Order: sequence, then C-alpha cells, then structure tokens
Amino acid sequence: MTSAPPGTASTHALRLTRVTFEYARGFSIHIPDLQVNAGEQVLLAGSSGSGKSTLLHLIAGLEDVNSGEIHMQGSDFTRLRGAARDTFRGRHIGMIFQTLNLLQGFTARENVMLALMLGGSSQLEQSQRAESVLAQLGITEPHAMIETLSVGQQQRVAVARAVAGRPSLVLADEPTASLDPENARNTIALIQEAATRAGAALIVTSHDPLLRSSFSRVIDVSEFTSKRAAP
Ligand code: ADP
Ligand code: MG
Repeated sequence: MTSAPPGTASTHALRLTRVTFEYARGFSIHIPDLQVNAGEQVLLAGSSGSGKSTLLHLIAGLEDVNSGEIHMQGSDFTRLRGAARDTFRGRHIGMIFQTLNLLQGFTARENVMLALMLGGSSQLEQSQRAESVLAQLGITEPHAMIETLSVGQQQRVAVARAVAGRPSLVLADEPTASLDPENARNTIALIQEAATRAGAALIVTSHDPLLRSSFSRVIDVSEFTSKRAAP
C-alpha cells in the first residue's frame, strides 16, 4: 500500500455513501458505503439486466442519484450540475463504452485529442500525447481514419481515449461482450495495463464469469439492487 501524498486526506479514487436510486418501474439501487482505492481494479459483475450499466452511469454522473454522495478528487460529484459536471467528468473519468462511441470521419489521433481538450494543454502537446498513448496501445498509424481500422484497433483507440487525459478513474461497460474468450482476456489485460500506466483506478462491468479470475476484487451488483414485484 502506498500512503496518501502530503495534504490529501485519503487514497480513495471513488467513494459512494448512502446512495439511492430508483427507476419508475421499480428497479432500485441502495449503496450504504462503497470505496474504490486509488489505482485499484474492480470487476462489477452481474447477469444481464442486473443494474451494472445503471450503477456505472450513476458513478459517471450520467444519471442522477435520488440521494447520497459520490466523492471523487475531493468533490461530491452529485452536487455538480450541467457544464460543471461535464467538465469534472472530462477531467477525472475516462470511459470505454461497449459501442465505443468513436467519431467517424476523424482520425485515431483526433478521436483521442477530443478527450484532451479540457486539460488546458496546447494543441501540439495534445497531439503528441495522443500519438504516444496510441503507440503504447499498438496503434502506429495515428492518421488513419477511424472507419478504416479493424474493430480490434478501434477498441484500442477507445482505450487510448479513455486513459490519455490521465483520469483518476476509468470505467468500462461490458468491453468484452462481443468477443470470444481469448480476445476477451486479451482486451481486459490491455485495459488493465493502460489504466495502471495512467495511474487510474478501474471499474469494468461484465456478465461473463470467466473474467472474475482477472480481478483481485469482484463486486456483485446484486448486493446493492432490488426489484419491486409488479402489482
Ligand atoms: P445491466 O447493465 O446489468 O444489463 P441495466 O443497468 O441496464 O442492467 O438495467 C438494470 C435494470 O433497470 C433492468 O431491470 C432494466 O430493465 C432497468 N432499466 C434500465 N434502464 C432503464 C430506464 N431508462 N428506465 C427504466 N428502467 C430501466
Ligand atoms: Mg449494461
């Protein structure tokens, strides 16, 4: 364990306290206390429809909690609204979506640079950082248009975009859902290595029990969820 740097109160990347959330149709989440340490890597496991994406969206501030606090980098993320929340998310969280959400018509480098625009560095620095992270992930043609890359290469670009800004937390929602077992393991290793290099904590969701052995910490989302029976 590393100790907290001087002047910081704790080493957590994320802490949820007394968080509640409910969809109108009766699916609810209740988290008394959940902490993810700086640099820690966690698998958020559960079957399809069990609430993994919902919890990830709460953590990313893409969905609003009904009550409770989500602390990250010394701020209660739930109190930020609108542009302030988007900026905070952009600075501190890297996201890898199942659908990748890369921009067609732009190069690999430009897709990664978009994630660096909130960081305050010059365009030249952004460009160099993007190329170096892409190279670390095996993309040696940063000028290639996204749509000319293979799916595997596009996934690497999405990983590069998530870690390039050196976020404190990386969230990946079902990154292996469409892959065979061998590629799934390789992709998880790639994401874990990229998060470690960036110094970020990592939360990966998956319904695939095979991935459990790749993580030292596994959280079952069912621990925090309940579903009201239909009337
Ligand atoms: P997972 O990602 O584990 O497959 P989700 O978080 O997508 O699960 O969904 C959890 C539960 O919430 C499911 O019962 C789903 O039907 C319900 N749900 C998801 N999105 C919505 C929504 N926008 N409105 C109402 N219910 C939703
Ligand atoms: Mg999901």
